[in-house]
Amino acid sequence: MNLKLQQYINGKWVEANSGNTRTIINPFNQEVIASVPEGDESDAKAAIAAAREAFDNGEWASTPATERGAIVRKIAEFIERDKEELAHLESLDTGKTVEESRGDMDDIAGVFRYFAELADKDGGELIDSPVPNSISKVVREPVGVCGQITPWNYPLLQASWKLAPALATGNTLIIKPSEITPLTHIKVFELMEEAGVPAGVANLVLGAGDTIGAELSSNTDVDLISFTGGIVTGKKIMQAASVNVKKLALELGGKNPNVIFADADFDIAVDQALNGVFFHAGQICSAGTRLIVEESIHDKFVNALVERVKKFKLGSGFNEDTQMGPLISAEHLAKVEKYVEAGVQEGATVAVGGKRPEDPELQKGFFYLPTIFTDCTTDMSVVQDEGFGPIITVEKFRTEEEAVNLSNDSIYGLAGGVFTNDIAKAERCAAKMRMGTVWINEFNLYFPHAPWGGYKQSGIGRELGKLGMEEYTETKHIFQNLKPETLNWF
Ligand code: NAD
Repeated sequence: MNLKLQQYINGKWVEANSGNTRTIINPFNQEVIASVPEGDESDAKAAIAAAREAFDNGEWASTPATERGAIVRKIAEFIERDKEELAHLESLDTGKTVEESRGDMDDIAGVFRYFAELADKDGGELIDSPVPNSISKVVREPVGVCGQITPWNYPLLQASWKLAPALATGNTLIIKPSEITPLTHIKVFELMEEAGVPAGVANLVLGAGDTIGAELSSNTDVDLISFTGGIVTGKKIMQAASVNVKKLALELGGKNPNVIFADADFDIAVDQALNGVFFHAGQICSAGTRLIVEESIHDKFVNALVERVKKFKLGSGFNEDTQMGPLISAEHLAKVEKYVEAGVQEGATVAVGGKRPEDPELQKGFFYLPTIFTDCTTDMSVVQDEGFGPIITVEKFRTEEEAVNLSNDSIYGLAGGVFTNDIAKAERCAAKMRMGTVWINEFNLYFPHAPWGGYKQSGIGRELGKLGMEEYTETKHIFQNLKPETLNWF
């Protein structure tokens, strides 16, 4: 592997202070693919100190926004240039099909381009002043030192949503990838160095969440934490970040409803319901794993799903005909197995799947069969909890109101979908669904200029879009009196 396999702190490629390392394995066959430094709190502190110094010396923040944008644009160009290598690394590390990884890389380059373009577009605004002979202006400034923590499901994609706006707005940063998927983060740091990001501005620390992640969250030299991951970790980070009232951006999980009305185009709804869940073996925060189907088409719809699911081709992400790869790790596979067991115990019916595959060629990988549960009710844990695997639960509804109520009966509020040919009905449902994104006759589509984030316990703040840029800025009001006078009050 032609990769540095080190941390990047203050413009230098370094091992862990402790000298410790961690092996990274391929979830398809458990082969060791790399050995990387296993940093700890001391590495995180060194990276935070570098980012603090790089912010406080003011050079990056005062670099003209057009120049910062040009550097961010170069990163996009290098990602496009090295797309095949990046896609290969991502598939090796996560098990997802290389075709999906290629799509991710296109999206990632698009994200860097989008924020590069935004870099010099907001010069602040003049607002009306209540005082004659004065100027009142509102400007945006970088927040400061940003701690960024990413998950393992879409490693570089999630990182791009954080790196690009942070750099474009003149912040400095420390990013920590999931300890099990660091490879594309390392590669993108090579590209960022090549693009001319100055030393100290962007730092990469590798290792565990309860050491490095906890240090980033609790260190008072960090001004903002942007986290994507599970709800349990999100709550810990929120608590730790209170130490200096850090700005917080949390992108947490989801158990996303997909409402299928009887008047939807049947074949399209079946196809999109599958696409909405089974990419990357269902390990997607926005997966439409909670199907809510109108009673009159329920049986026909479930049968159509089951017939398609039975034909899924599981295998290596590097085989062209593979449709679904393995889960990320043995630990995660065990969690998914428990989740399904709980569903069975609570009375849900396994219509297809519900176990590991028997194919001898898949035994070394962390595979789980695509699974559909029917006879589901809202009180079941499989309906309420995020499974983060290739699992769909199906509930029935009779009225529009019931469909909306079921959709909203969740602690989550990340995303949801509605399939119907009645546009007025679709709009009524979308207006009432309490989530950050609602797709109509579509599922799982996102793009750089549309904001992404959750209602309720799915998170705080937004990534992507103009709001994703604003997360990385503070707003300042500057008032200047052009004709000051004494007030003679005291
Ligand atoms: P996770 O919460 O276990 O880990 C995420 C990151 O947090 C990792 O880098 C981990 O090392 C770190 N971490 C762990 N403990 C920590 C601590 N105490 N302090 C600070 N950092 C810590 O999540 P995961 O299993 O890697 O990812 C899956 C989860 O991510 C799912 O719940 C999924 O829904 C969510 N996710 C959400 C979005 C979104 O946009 N809303 C996108 C992708 C994934």
